[in-house]
This record gives sequence, structure tokens and C-alpha cells, in this order.
Amino acid sequence: MKTSLLDPKEVVFSGLGVSTGVAIGPAYVVETGATQVPEYTIAADAVDAECQRFTDAAAKARRQIKKLKTKALLLPEAAAEEVGFLLEAHMAMVSGSRLTRGVERRIREDLVNAESATQTEINSIAHSFQDMADAYLAARIADVREVGSRLIRNLTEHEYQAFSMLPQGVIIIAEELSPAETALLDPGIVAGFASVQGGAEGHTAIMARSLGIPAVLGVHGLLAGAHNGDQVIVDGEHGKIILNPDEMTLADYRARQGTLQQEREKLKGLRRLPSITLDGTPVALFANIELPREITTALEAGASGIGLFRTEFMFMNRDALPDEEEQYEALRTVVEGMGGRPVTVRTLDLGSDKLAEALDNRFNESDNPALGLRAVRLSQREPKLLETQLAAMLRASAHGPVRILLPLITTVSEVRWVREMMGSVVKKLKRRNVKIADPLPPLGVMIEVPGAALTADALAACSDFLAIGTNDLTQYTLAIDRGDDQVAHLYDPLHPAVLRLIQFTAQAALRARIPVSVCGEIAGDPRFTALLLGLGVHEFSMNPNKLPLVKRRIRTLDLRSASRRAQTIMDQSDSTRIGELLDEFNAAD
Ligand code: PEP
Ligand code: MG
Repeated sequence: MKTSLLDPKEVVFSGLGVSTGVAIGPAYVVETGATQVPEYTIAADAVDAECQRFTDAAAKARRQIKKLKTKALLLPEAAAEEVGFLLEAHMAMVSGSRLTRGVERRIREDLVNAESATQTEINSIAHSFQDMADAYLAARIADVREVGSRLIRNLTEHEYQAFSMLPQGVIIIAEELSPAETALLDPGIVAGFASVQGGAEGHTAIMARSLGIPAVLGVHGLLAGAHNGDQVIVDGEHGKIILNPDEMTLADYRARQGTLQQEREKLKGLRRLPSITLDGTPVALFANIELPREITTALEAGASGIGLFRTEFMFMNRDALPDEEEQYEALRTVVEGMGGRPVTVRTLDLGSDKLAEALDNRFNESDNPALGLRAVRLSQREPKLLETQLAAMLRASAHGPVRILLPLITTVSEVRWVREMMGSVVKKLKRRNVKIADPLPPLGVMIEVPGAALTADALAACSDFLAIGTNDLTQYTLAIDRGDDQVAHLYDPLHPAVLRLIQFTAQAALRARIPVSVCGEIAGDPRFTALLLGLGVHEFSMNPNKLPLVKRRIRTLDLRSASRRAQTIMDQSDSTRIGELLDEFNAAD
């Protein structure tokens, strides 16, 4: 890391504070568009292992190019031929060429890592191409560079440990981090992060909150101002990034870190207290998790169970899909770990901003990925994926209470289709003499599309519980991309349309006598607690770090007055006025 040479001045940037807390540390700037090429020397006895890493990366590149060649056959004839030639050349470059031999020689002679050897070899080949008189041949350098990038990508991504080589306490500054990349951040290494792009309700933000890493997204101009090694403060609560803070600012934020730590300690005292309103109404508080290891935080927070397990994160950052056995083992760990508390496992919700390399070839480019092949729609296109997941979930249900939840449902026929498939998976498991729960796990539906909310009564009639996903429900009702910072100011779960859909859904569940929860981000925001309760929701599922805050709020509320106030709010048509009223009501308790 190099430090900027000029006398650094404090600069403050504003963005969306998406994960609270304060982090202070040195910046690590991820260069836009460039693959990070780690450079380090290796010991003489590590040479063989390093060469093997390169051999593996080249083998992976051959598999990737072969796949691309198969895809190219589907192109119109002339294009297929042209692309075919190109890929043939790429294949030759990763199969015992000057490039591969050169990289291995550099690893052996210069004692450097494979990524750095590849980069140097590519630059050297590029140099020799520069002087070629033949314009066509000179232009082939682009192909060499492309192959080099593929090899480096394979080398750096192979173990899916993005940023793992960074020093402890670093602050990552990037153009954008995907949800999959964020899931790889180790809170023991990365103290905080900031990016130019990203909205407050996208899955990158949700993942940052789950990991408890302070983060600010949508920070314009950030990359132009930041250098590696600059001292950075991430103020996740107020959405501020401070580069090169002066002594006074630093002292303020260090004090703030201390206060936040004290508050966290104080909230721990709530863990054993019941989640119950002043008038004695119990309110179930569940945890949202993305990875099995998060159950520790859920239990520490005193969660009544898992209200949403986003299983798609188990499919990310790997080359191959997890098979039934692996999924079953992961689910069993969660179910057993939760010690008899219910675990709500959602079937795959990949697509849109959540992507998995192992499934990349099943998606075509889409102009509107949030409206495209995603969640249950992907399951219908690839039934084997769902069948495997259901089998793992049913097997896990033998170890404790499991509830199965379906994402992005829009029609009753989708629910019936899954139920039928579940029936046939049950038969198959029974034939295999595999133990499953009796009665079978309840099958629930996420209400996150306006069309689903408006037909909540019909969906309630064919499902065992409803879970309102307000993140997507807000996105689709207001036509605001939840992950786009440019329209983040318009993303408003207090819009009367969203509130009416929540209320309609809650009432439909009540009439059908089935449980209903809210598991979108507002469930973890104490500002919304009284309103949701007043709208008839008595189950909340949230990031476990938020659970004590919501419990504290519940213990100050009276159900009847929450319902009266919710009604006053529902009589309003303007979301600004709704926000004001809500804050007035909250301040009065
Ligand atoms: C939601 O949409 O509110 C939800 C909980 O699902 P996700 O955030 O995973 O899309
Ligand atoms: Mg959703």
C-alpha cells in the first residue's frame, strides 16, 4: 500500500449509510475495471505448489472456453465461425503455449506468485506485439490480454477469498461490491467499506448489516479522492466518509465508537426479557440469516427462531452447485443449532442482484433482471434445482421444526406446482427410507409483488403462512430499484400504497387464520415497529443485530393504541405526512 505524498486534508463525502457503526482504518482502493493482481514473492519450496495453482487455473480456463464454444454454435452461421476461430486461438493460448511456459518459468526463476507471473508475461508479450507491422496481428494483443485476465481471474477467484490478503482493520473503497463479494468479507479483516454505487436495500447493503460491517454506499466522487493507505472514517449511521480526518474529527469518532460499544453492551441485557407489549401481547422476533454460521448471532440476540434463511448465499462464490447431501448437512447444522426453535428456509432466490457463478450459464442477459428470471421462476425453469433443495429441506425437517418459504410468488399456480413437487419428493424420500417430519413442514409464501399482495386472500388459501418481503414489495410497488443509489431517495416503505398492501396481506392472513410476518428490512427498524404491529403483524424477522432494539421498542407499546395510531396513519395519502405522524407517535411513547 502506498501513502499519498501531499499533505492530506480532511475531506467529507456523503452517501447512504447502509450499515451502522463507525470504522476507522487505512483505505484499500479497489481499482475500477481492473482485476486486482496480488503481487508477492514465494519461498523456493512453494514453487511446485504455485505452478500447480497456475496449471489448475489454465485447466479451468480451458473448461470455460469449451463452454463458450458450445454456446457460440448457437450463433448465426457467420458469427459462429468468427467467434469459433477466436475461441480456438484462446484455447491454444492456455494449452502449452509461449504464455503458459513463460508464466511457469517466471514462477520458478523469479520466485513470484502465479498472478504476478501471468501479468508480467502478458506485458512482455504485449511489448513484442507492439512493433509488428501487420495491423491484424498487432490487434491480436487484445486476445492475449483477454486470456491473461481470464487466467488471473481464475487464480484470484479460485478460492473465493476476496480481500483475504489485506491487513487487518482495512477500509475497502470500491466502485461497487456485489452481494456475493460482500458475503466473502471477513469482519475480522475488513473494518468497513464504501462504494460509489449501491442502494440501501440491495443485498450488498443487507449483507453488510448481517456481517456488522459499517458501510456507506452511493458515495459519488469517492474514487477520485481516495488513495491506498489514506486514513478513512466510515460513519455508517450518518452516511459519511471522511478521508484524512484531522485530529479533532478523529477524537470525536473514537469517542463515538466507545459510546456505541457501551450501547451494544447495554442492549445485551434485553436478551432474556420476553418480547411482549405493555398489555401482554407476545410478539415473535425471528432472525434473518444468509449463511449457517450466522445462527450464533441469532441465538446471542435471543431470536425465537429463523424467520428467513436466504439459502441463495450458499450457492455463491463456488464453481459447482451444492448437492443434496451438502445442502442437507448445512440445513441440519442450522436446525440442530437452533435447538427446537423454528427455522424458515427459503428456496433459491437467485437472479437480479444475487448471482452465482455456478449458475451463470442458465441466465441470458436481461434488460430488467429484477423483473426477469429470478427466484421461483428460476426453480420452474430448472426444476431439478428445486427438487434437490426440497429433498434437503425435508430431510433436515427430521431434526427440528422447519418451515419452507417460497420467494417472489405471483400466482397460486406457482404455489400448487411447488406443493405437487414437494409431494413427489416426499414419495421418493420415503422410498429411500429417509426420515422426514410428520406432519410435513408448513409451506409459506413471500408476499413481495403487488400482484401477490392484492391476491393475498387466494394465496393464503393455498399456503400455510405468509411472509411479507417489504424490500421487494416497496421496489415493485413504487417502481424503484432497491439497489440503485440514484433513486434511493424515492424508495419509501411509508408510501400509502405499500402500507395498504401490507395491511391487506395481514388481514387476509388473519381471516385465513395463518401466521403472517414481515421479514423485509423495516422489520428491524424500531421506527416501524408500532405501525406494523398496529397493522396486524405480530411476527417480525430481521437482522439479528437489530433484534434487541426492536424488542426494547415492543416492550414500550400498547397494542390498542398502536392500532388506533396505525388507523390514523392509514387515513393519510401523503407519505411525508405519514412519516411526520409516525415520528410524532413514536416520540410520544
Ligand atoms: C424482501 O424482499 O423483503 C426480502 C426479505 O427478500 P430479499 O431481501 O432477500 O429480496
Ligand atoms: Mg425479496
